[in-house]
Amino acid sequence: MVEERRWHQHYPKEIPTSLHYDEKPLHHFLEDTALRYKEKKALYFMGKELTYEELCQSAKKFANYLQGLGVVKGDRVAIMLPNSPQAVIGYYGALMAGAVVVQTNPLYTERELEYQMKDSGSRVIVCLDILVPRVTSVKGNTSLEHMIVTGIKDYLPFPKNLIYPFIQKKQYNMVVKVEESSNTHLWTSIMAKAEAAYQKVAVDPVEDIALLQYTGGTTGFPKGVILTHRNLVANAKMCEAWIYKMKKGEEVVLGVLPFFHVYGMTAVMNISIFNGAKMILLPKFNAGEVLKTIHKLKPTLFPGAPTIYIGLLNHPDLQKYDLSSVQACISGSAPLPVEVQEKFEKVTSGRLVEGYGLTESSPVTHANLVYGNRISGSIGIPWPDTDAKILNMETYEDEVKAGEVGELAVKGPQVMKGYWNKPEDTENTLKDGWLLTGDLGYMDENGYFYIVDRKKDMIIAGGYNIYPREVEEVLYEHEAVLEAVVAGVPDPYRGETVKAYVVIKEGYAVTEEELNAYCRENLAAYKVPRIYDFRDELPKTAVGKILRRQLIDEEKSKYKTE
Ligand code: AMP
Repeated sequence: MVEERRWHQHYPKEIPTSLHYDEKPLHHFLEDTALRYKEKKALYFMGKELTYEELCQSAKKFANYLQGLGVVKGDRVAIMLPNSPQAVIGYYGALMAGAVVVQTNPLYTERELEYQMKDSGSRVIVCLDILVPRVTSVKGNTSLEHMIVTGIKDYLPFPKNLIYPFIQKKQYNMVVKVEESSNTHLWTSIMAKAEAAYQKVAVDPVEDIALLQYTGGTTGFPKGVILTHRNLVANAKMCEAWIYKMKKGEEVVLGVLPFFHVYGMTAVMNISIFNGAKMILLPKFNAGEVLKTIHKLKPTLFPGAPTIYIGLLNHPDLQKYDLSSVQACISGSAPLPVEVQEKFEKVTSGRLVEGYGLTESSPVTHANLVYGNRISGSIGIPWPDTDAKILNMETYEDEVKAGEVGELAVKGPQVMKGYWNKPEDTENTLKDGWLLTGDLGYMDENGYFYIVDRKKDMIIAGGYNIYPREVEEVLYEHEAVLEAVVAGVPDPYRGETVKAYVVIKEGYAVTEEELNAYCRENLAAYKVPRIYDFRDELPKTAVGKILRRQLIDEEKSKYKTE
């Protein structure tokens, strides 16, 4: 049971403040759903559908095959796939075999892949055929013993343009011929030959690791976040409790967030499997494709990130599509501009609410109520069984008063066990079960939480603290601005100075002077960007979060070379 806290007053009667978590590992939920909803569609991918029975049988075959390769409890199995049936089967199959899944971004360069494989000590990797050259070139320097290769065509003929962004051009044009050998295995053979039976492995859901999830790399060096079966089950159960109007076996979830990121993994894949929902798998975000898909396949739930919703709202053909099937969307990963929320709710019949989380907490800890009062600009209130406090940044012991800014700390069954092989980082981040999020924020009198910024992103210019988010919000309110990100860049006099990177909406024009004058009207002088950089696009993570760090590093490297 959780202690009574002030945000509990907002809980509707349908949401308990504390939940029951079955003593089961994550993959048992797939088996349960497959028994209950045998013939129901589990996933849709480019015109092809798989039932829950087929999905579960395929996962069992995969588990069986892994065990045949000698995979035992705790071995790491990496999955380097975009959203596809194989990504779901590989993930659940590896868990059934007792393995720890290591999610790998298909966009990783050789260097990033090598680091991750070495750090995690993965023995097996499942990858797309077009990624084989990349995997092969690093394999010898890592502990990888087996490579399981699949092509999107293993499920259907795949249109080139959709998979293209996940690979490098030159590799796409290469004809990748993969020969089977003792350590190279073809997905198609596994599915044709393996039996849908595997050796059950005893799992302690609270202690045993399900996943090593490397953090997005938006800050610092990537670390493997250790998430247990309980962590992942708890977060999916919390999400289910939060969206309590979800109807078992009836929902259709739009899967545009990648499953190799913790957010898509929990909010799309695991949630769908827990609820017997059908998930629509899209291997990448393309606004036109997403609009068409919603129009045609009528998803009811659509977890996303602000840049995804912004991309849809600004599509020139938005009006042509019927988006009214969408009932509920939780937006996470970054602040959700209020006008995006309002506009999106107008074009769908549903609710779009802001939530918050991080890889270290599986990921969600807070959200606004999907059905009920929500506070624009707030990340909402803590989820069931989740406690939160704002710490004084000097003492790190006391909580600050309502309205005062400090570091957000969270506690709950979704909080990681620690970082893989990094005891010092773990010690610095987990204190008595409290996770220090590295985000600055405050709680209001009513128990609603607000993120002001990331600790690391705060700009100190001429002795003033400037929170990029505040400046970005002003920029987003300008009618010509499509996307904006603000960063502190080195400045010989002020230490740092504020630089704005801006993408202008199609059909609009604005000059630096105009934007500057506008910022001056809306911000204290010291917060006004001194430098504007107009770009066609901004670098983003796989879930659409703008990579502020990358822009700062770009800037710093310029200073070094000059
Ligand atoms: P990741 O571990 O890649 O999922 O990134 C987690 C980080 O994303 C958090 O520590 C926050 O800095 C940021 N974040 C997530 N949701 C929000 C939100 N609603 N508002 C502001 N920042 C957010």
